[in-house]
Amino acid sequence: MDFDLLVIGGGSGGVRAARMAAQRGVRVGLVEALGRQGLGGTCVNVGCIPKKLYHYAAHYAEAADEARGYGWHGAHATLDWGELKRRRAAEIDRLNGVYEQLLRNAGVTLLHGWARLTDAHTVQVATLNADGSPTHQTWRAERILIATGGTPYVPHFRGREHVITSNEVFDLDPLPARLVVVGGGYIACEFASIFHGLGVQVTQLYRGEQILRGFDDEVRHFLADQLRAKGLDLRLQTGVVAVQREDDGLHVLLEDGNRVVADAVLYATGRVPNVAGLGLEEVGVAQGAQGAIIVNEHFQTNVPSIYAVGDVVARAQLTPVALAEAMAVVDHLYGAAGAAPRQARYDLIPTAVFTLPSVGAVGLTEAHARQQRGRLRIYRSAFRPLRHTLSGSPERALVKLVVDDSSDQVVGLHMVGPEAGEIVQGFAVAMRCGATKAQFDATLGIHPTLAEEFVTLREPVART
Ligand code: FAD
Ligand code: NDP
Repeated sequence: MDFDLLVIGGGSGGVRAARMAAQRGVRVGLVEALGRQGLGGTCVNVGCIPKKLYHYAAHYAEAADEARGYGWHGAHATLDWGELKRRRAAEIDRLNGVYEQLLRNAGVTLLHGWARLTDAHTVQVATLNADGSPTHQTWRAERILIATGGTPYVPHFRGREHVITSNEVFDLDPLPARLVVVGGGYIACEFASIFHGLGVQVTQLYRGEQILRGFDDEVRHFLADQLRAKGLDLRLQTGVVAVQREDDGLHVLLEDGNRVVADAVLYATGRVPNVAGLGLEEVGVAQGAQGAIIVNEHFQTNVPSIYAVGDVVARAQLTPVALAEAMAVVDHLYGAAGAAPRQARYDLIPTAVFTLPSVGAVGLTEAHARQQRGRLRIYRSAFRPLRHTLSGSPERALVKLVVDDSSDQVVGLHMVGPEAGEIVQGFAVAMRCGATKAQFDATLGIHPTLAEEFVTLREPVART
């Protein structure tokens, strides 16, 4: 065997697993298709990090407007999109290098190329020569960990070739004056909001009744109202029939017979596991819906030497989940560094949607709590944040607690407002500890903050 563990994929899950295993003295190899440039995977290259940087960029545009309400005046700043892209690319390049260094320092052998399984212990890695011909190298390992992530899914329709996905959106050239975003999930909402903030005229088209299916219904409606109040053209129950290129731009033809004309069309209609060409069928690795690799509680596939974590198993497509799964595998296979082997848990996953304003949530929605628990108490406050009393912004905030009436446990915490992710992260710890409403009430607020609303909600707005 060349390695004890051969990891396929240098993204969130793969890098973490490779590094942790190597630190335990295991002989680890890691294959990444994109080479050094791609180390860090989706999150670093075309996901969380560049997205959050653009979110900050959009926030500064808003903040500059709002500052006038505080007496700041002066020339109106304009966005140099090229500079933003260059600075983002340089930061991502730096992070790619950090990942490479972390892996090398841990003793991981880095292999560049496209990996394909040829049997339960063998991986063939293909690289392209300068003349385009492939070179294949074969590596054998006692165990193989697949962490190949996911890729954007675009449905089939006439004119599909004209649209882009989140992979291309970061480098749009030039910055479009008009952007259509199709979808109502995390990526669609985030990019619609971010590009609107950057000054682009955005139309968001969603096929369903309300954006962000799976989030608390009040949060969904509240956010939609906030986005519209800022001027984003959000259209619900709006399906797309075709996209065609005309002289004045891309025409997005809608089911209701209308059309929207734009300079770019972003499809954010979900992501599917990255399994094409991996050789899973040949080796007999069982797959589920959309090709997701099926694993047991230890992330082992039906082929005992092959494991899988992250978006390719598609339990929850979030970086901290991929990291938790990677650490659970390493602890299980090679021993825990701490007291007990870590386990990936899928209850109480805190999450944020980086819109402007942002959404943060942990625990059950009111609807799910009603199905899973008995009587509930609902606490809610919708208000204008202090900062907007002077800013002139119409933005409002929402905080909401879902409480199990019999145990008094807070089972759901939701908010819409600035820095929702930062606020909810701390409350997620309290909820992991099983905090009750009485314990929230016994906690002093930090005044004046938006977060203190969560510990000053006195009277339920509903008992259901
Ligand atoms: P990835 O990070 O996708 O890594 C997979 C790696 O495998 C890639 O580098 C790929 O090149 C490589 N690979 C694939 N096939 C092969 C092969 N055959 N051979 C060799 N290498 C291969 N999550 C959050 O928690 N917060 C966020 O704010 C957030 N924002 C996001 C924004 C966007 C636009 C997107 C698209 C995703 C976002 N996510 C976010 C989700 C997050 O990026 C993913 O859940 C996470 O990256 C999954 O990690 P992974 O290790 O499973 O896969
Ligand atoms: P989501 O699953 O979140 O949303 C997909 C959206 O596309 C839904 O609104 C869905 O509608 C719609 N859709 C699906 N198929 C079609 C179709 N054929 N025609 C029209 N609309 C369609 O996926 P995303 O692509 O937004 O993001 C992928 C994942 O990446 C997220 O689920 C999340 O796990 C992760 N992510 C996390 C972020 C964060 O943590 N902040 C940010 C970005 C991504 P419907 O609801 O009706 O099914």
